[in-house]
Amino acid sequence: MILSYKPFILEYKHPFGVSSNTRTSTTSVFIKIEFEGKIGYGEACLPLYLGETVEGTIAFFERAKPVLAKISGPFLVKNILIEIDVLSIGNNAAKAAIDIALNDIVGKIVNKPFYDVMGFGKSKSMPTSFTIGIDEEQKIEQKIKEAEEFSVLKIKAGTKDDKALINLIRRYTDKPLYIDVNQGWKDKQFVLDMIFWLHDKNVILIEQPMPASMIDEMAWVTEQSPIPTIADESIKRLKDLQNLKGSFSGINIKLMKSTGLTEAVEMARYAKQNNLKVLLGCMAESSCGTSAMAQLMQFADYIDLDAPNLLKNDPFTGITYKNGNVYLNDLPGIGVEPIESLLSF
Ligand code: MG
Repeated sequence: MILSYKPFILEYKHPFGVSSNTRTSTTSVFIKIEFEGKIGYGEACLPLYLGETVEGTIAFFERAKPVLAKISGPFLVKNILIEIDVLSIGNNAAKAAIDIALNDIVGKIVNKPFYDVMGFGKSKSMPTSFTIGIDEEQKIEQKIKEAEEFSVLKIKAGTKDDKALINLIRRYTDKPLYIDVNQGWKDKQFVLDMIFWLHDKNVILIEQPMPASMIDEMAWVTEQSPIPTIADESIKRLKDLQNLKGSFSGINIKLMKSTGLTEAVEMARYAKQNNLKVLLGCMAESSCGTSAMAQLMQFADYIDLDAPNLLKNDPFTGITYKNGNVYLNDLPGIGVEPIESLLSF
């Protein structure tokens, strides 16, 4: 197996994020693994807040090269990943890129999409939420107009005055909302009061209202919450799910946290067995990473896979969007192809 990689700056159509933390681009490192004439693609998406750097990611790929180079015959992805995982603590995005590329190759060898290789089958299309970055009032109106085809909007809360923000949004749209607080609220009674207030405003899901450390407080909130509470920062990998102890009613699975598809499938299966709702999310991945995540739509109660729509220069084709719904294709592996004029390596 031969691994090559290329860092790439993904540019947003509009500045994105909470007002104090507005971003205009994110870097991904794309990889290509070649094996017996087949090419698998993967993506390590590296938003600044994750703390994974381009340099660290490339260093990890260099460390993984000898592990991959010694594989010459039929292989089991899971066995390779065990060897890759112990190369370092962390580097979850880099590990995800390798996992995605290996699963892409397997699909191409057997000529089946990942969802058929795994046996859970092709999901019908699903509506994705579309994130509205916080901005001045005129821009919010403009962004809501641009999001017209999407049936659910996601709002990043944790601003100085979240009620004012929601009231402002409600002047322009009555679409159902997901609210992501990114650990922004600290008092459990305040959180519960806010959730009831938001519920009245047709907010149908709340993500990570409190810091990951506040497990007992979060369990108290979840028990009384009229809408699902979804863990994001509280969970990264499969082992974290055992520590949730009823503190949330669902989980946000992202490939850049889970170290890729293989563990994401295990997390989705664990969630279903334990009566937890599944939200499939993403960081800022291109169509490469999001098309990989969409392979798991069969498990999803909700999807938040809007990232390719936010990008100016998506270097892959893969899943498609129509009327705010995400559609899988029938291509083998993760179902993506690079756009050579944007990305060649
Ligand atoms: Mg989140």
